[in-house]
Amino acid sequence: MERFKNYINGAWVDALSGKTFQNLNPADQRDCIGEFPESDAADIDAAVKACKAAERSWMLTPAPKRGDILRRAGDIFTRRKTELSRIMTREMGKPTFETAGDVQEAIDTCYYAATEGRRLFGYTAPSELENKMNLSFRMPVGVCGIITAWNFPIAVPSWKIIPALLCGNTVVFKPSEDAPHSAVVFAEILEEAGVPPGVFNVVHGKGASGAALVEHPAVRLIAFTGSTQTGTSIAARCGALNKKCSLEMGGKNALAVMEDADQELALEGVLWGAFGTTGQRCTATSRLIVHKDIYEEFTNKLITHASKLRLGSGLEPDTQVGPVINERQLEKIERYIQIGRDEGATLALGGGRDDGPKLGVGLFVKPTIFLDVTPSMRIFREEIFGPVLAVTKAESFEHAIELINDCEYGLSSSIFTSDVNRAFRAIRDIEAGITYINAPTIGAEAHMPFGGVKGTGNGHREGGWTAYDIFTEWKTVYVDFSSKLQRAQIDNY
Ligand code: NAD
Repeated sequence: MERFKNYINGAWVDALSGKTFQNLNPADQRDCIGEFPESDAADIDAAVKACKAAERSWMLTPAPKRGDILRRAGDIFTRRKTELSRIMTREMGKPTFETAGDVQEAIDTCYYAATEGRRLFGYTAPSELENKMNLSFRMPVGVCGIITAWNFPIAVPSWKIIPALLCGNTVVFKPSEDAPHSAVVFAEILEEAGVPPGVFNVVHGKGASGAALVEHPAVRLIAFTGSTQTGTSIAARCGALNKKCSLEMGGKNALAVMEDADQELALEGVLWGAFGTTGQRCTATSRLIVHKDIYEEFTNKLITHASKLRLGSGLEPDTQVGPVINERQLEKIERYIQIGRDEGATLALGGGRDDGPKLGVGLFVKPTIFLDVTPSMRIFREEIFGPVLAVTKAESFEHAIELINDCEYGLSSSIFTSDVNRAFRAIRDIEAGITYINAPTIGAEAHMPFGGVKGTGNGHREGGWTAYDIFTEWKTVYVDFSSKLQRAQIDNY
């Protein structure tokens, strides 16, 4: 069995304790991808020490030169795209056309960062005094701890790691225990691109190693993507320890179809939004809200089309829906399907595990649709993170907006309508970090702000230049060239 290692100070090393964990292919549980270090606080400490040793020379490397290294990383991601997409599919399940897109997001993020190395703007402003100049700069934060989920094993880490490095920070990356092989390739690519030893480190492990990273006193910032439960507990520790903390957490995204919508387009959008990535995207469509005038017609079409989706290993070219990530998640989805039944929703499609002859070796759940879901039901309110869609009838456009907003999360949202006035009212009134018009709830672009409101985030945004706000501290500089003590207005008015 292949044995993978941590990447610390430019070297591949075992966990100091020698402990390991195994990672299995979710499409075929007989296929073990390998053994990975089950790291603890001692390994985290070694990685943080490597960061501290490397931090000054990396900070002093001009940002455009750091950008050149990241451009090379983009080139290497491009060269290894097909190979990496197959590695990713084998370890987390989504079809290769999706994992190739996952790598593409990292490529775009690298090329964006390369150019940002020549901007990384601060700003100047006039002084209130004569012969005085005011400037501001973006400075690195220091050692950044990056903790991520498994569903976008390359894209989501790249949203954090690439801007963090461009800004002159050093990084300890604790990838998900369900997608560790992708993180190994991430490190290989940054090493080949020329990121110096110690600047970027990978420490594998489970929740305990993530917690050790949060606790380490030399770590100044935690950037986290994962569940709201884990994220809010990390935020509480970061609050107590006075660390900068950015959180991208759960969602319960709604897509509304109005009676004036292009129904064929909306249908395609719902199928992709709800069942793409087996419903395991933070932005997946997990609630569908349909106007009463087209409810019967639209849901009938939806059930017909969803019943034809092809389940299978993501490595097979005709697969549309892959497995779910692990046994624990499969059981959680089954539990929610039972909850939906018990709550009185109408199970119109699917309803559990698919363990036919080809699929029985993996963790497959049939695309599942519940009709007649009401806002008080748990399947309307709680994140399931699987191929389960809850459908609710809206009495009007206003009611649809009310239903979309009746949610403790606020990541993505979508409305299909041909009425331009409704579209703009939806843009204004939907409480979410992302709103799509006539497109499903998924489809982020690397250069646009990404993140959510309410229970999804804590006010930060990844993607584009908003990520650079997370990974920099402001330095304000006043230059007085009057040769006398001038008091600012605060002391002299
Ligand atoms: P999770 O919270 O279980 O784990 C996420 C990461 O945190 C993993 O690396 C895990 O090892 C680590 N971790 C667990 N306990 C920890 C602790 N106490 N301290 C520090 N680290 C700890 O989430 P998951 O099951 O891997 O991912 C699914 C969740 O991620 C869903 O809720 C989904 O919505 C969310 N997600 C959000 C976004 C977004 O951008 N908003 C993107 C992808 C996934």
